[in-house]
Amino acid sequence: MSEARTLDALIVGAGFAGLYMLHKLRQDGFTAQVVEKGSGVGGTWFWNRYPGARCDIPSIEYSYSFDAELEAEWRWSERYAAQPEILRYLEHVAERFDLMRDIALETLVTSARWDEGKGRWLVETDGGDAFDVQFLILATGALSEPKQPDIPGLENFEGQVLHSAMWDDGADLAGKNVCHFGTGSTGIQVVGEVAKAAKQLTVFQRTPNFAVPAGNHPLPEDYLEDLLPRYPELRERARTSPLGWFHGAWEGSAKADDAEAREERLEKAWKAGTTGLLQAYEDLLFDEESNSYAADFARRKIAELVDNPEKARKLTPHGYPIGSRRLCTEVNFYEAMNRDNVALVDVREEPVVTVTAHSVRTDKGEYPADVIILATGFDACVGAIKAIDIRGRDGRSIRDEWDNGPRAYLGLAVEGFPNMFTITGPGSPSVLSNVVVSIEQHVEWVARCMVDMRDAGQPVIEATTEAETAWMEHAHEVAHSTLFPRANSWYQGQTKDGRQVFMPYVGGVGAYRAKCEEIAANGYEGFVLR
Ligand code: FAD
Repeated sequence: MSEARTLDALIVGAGFAGLYMLHKLRQDGFTAQVVEKGSGVGGTWFWNRYPGARCDIPSIEYSYSFDAELEAEWRWSERYAAQPEILRYLEHVAERFDLMRDIALETLVTSARWDEGKGRWLVETDGGDAFDVQFLILATGALSEPKQPDIPGLENFEGQVLHSAMWDDGADLAGKNVCHFGTGSTGIQVVGEVAKAAKQLTVFQRTPNFAVPAGNHPLPEDYLEDLLPRYPELRERARTSPLGWFHGAWEGSAKADDAEAREERLEKAWKAGTTGLLQAYEDLLFDEESNSYAADFARRKIAELVDNPEKARKLTPHGYPIGSRRLCTEVNFYEAMNRDNVALVDVREEPVVTVTAHSVRTDKGEYPADVIILATGFDACVGAIKAIDIRGRDGRSIRDEWDNGPRAYLGLAVEGFPNMFTITGPGSPSVLSNVVVSIEQHVEWVARCMVDMRDAGQPVIEATTEAETAWMEHAHEVAHSTLFPRANSWYQGQTKDGRQVFMPYVGGVGAYRAKCEEIAANGYEGFVLR
């Protein structure tokens, strides 16, 4: 172990969050270092290189707003940029703000220990580096720790296994028999593209998801000239909106319209792309009956889009409200389902018995496989944090404590773990928002808190148990006033004793921001400064 480097802050992760955090702390006069396990910056957009990967919030919204010149010089080519373009954008940001000199790549943070006497963290990496820092900032991402699926016999497989979040750029699927697991947001994107290359693609689906057409299209050459004068106002609208989007829900209840008017409005919303359908009425995520109109509408669309009635039946979601699982965006998923070389297996009706050396065997048949694709998601919201051996006051382990359900005050600080901040942590809007908007808000709040602490000569901050408990209860209450907890989804964390904890904060980006501002203005209410 080399001698520890002394800095104000260590930032873990070089995605949207870590890059901006470094830039902001430098601007505010702090010394900081980013440590990133990947061999490049970009986080999500560095790792998820699978065919079809793209954002599902329009790029003009899913991008940084903190620098007007950056906004004016970057042109997106499509409404929803594909992964290579988003990665180029983040690499551009790293270069433009001269961030690379303080980013250590290919370095995994393995442990962090709080020294109560010194009031500092000792952070260690797999390469033997150590950092002695006042602040530990976890910009580790809510969707960055891939989940290994429980598929019987997978270890027997002798072909190539590709995980969507660890894609092999050299993978060639042309003419291959491909078995694909997972039909969430990522799976739906993968299938649309792989279907075109593979000889035979068999898609194994556990839960059918609602998917809305993206409505993707190239952006006109002059879109930026038109957008720039309106950008500040639109960005401000996103910051104060429920979901961090430029446009909020259309007013009114789905129950108030007659069938014809409702159909007309839902059709218009459907055509608007992903961000549209759930915004068609303001009560779709709160009222079961209203939600059922939108869900039935989407089900009818699936029946129209998918030619084969048996495939359409399997693809049709039932048993949970639309929007309570992440609403997927599709570009060519249903089109792929209409191809003769694409088969669909519903594993609830036809369970996988085992994977063999060259096939996937179910209780009804055997499907040849040269390649297996796993689009099986992430240990969401908590996985990357729990992967680090973090010891707070009195040696308390975050891993052990979060086994009983993640908890954090405002989703950004944890009692028992002083001077540690989690960017888009559990209990903040995070994955239930335009995540870049939520990241910018957290980064700016954390930087301001550090400046205020420096100015006040109070080097240590810690959330109180009471404030953390009250916040988690409030977050639980708000979640349960909506339809979100009605679905079994990755938004829900599991505790050791089998309880479910709804992890993202549902109260809205704008309301959440106002609460964070109020807490800071009141001298960091709910925190102890010493
Ligand atoms: P990440 O981008 O996940 O970066 C975290 C980084 O931390 C990673 O590079 C990781 O390697 C690193 N790291 C973690 N642990 C360690 C460690 N111990 N040591 C060193 N490094 C570590 N959100 C939206 O709002 N809109 C979208 O359209 C959208 N599309 C998405 C599509 C996909 C396929 C995925 C997976 C996510 C998508 N998201 C989307 C969510 C997305 O994760 C966020 O929008 C955003 O990119 C998160 O940025 P981040 O910096 O917080 O985390």
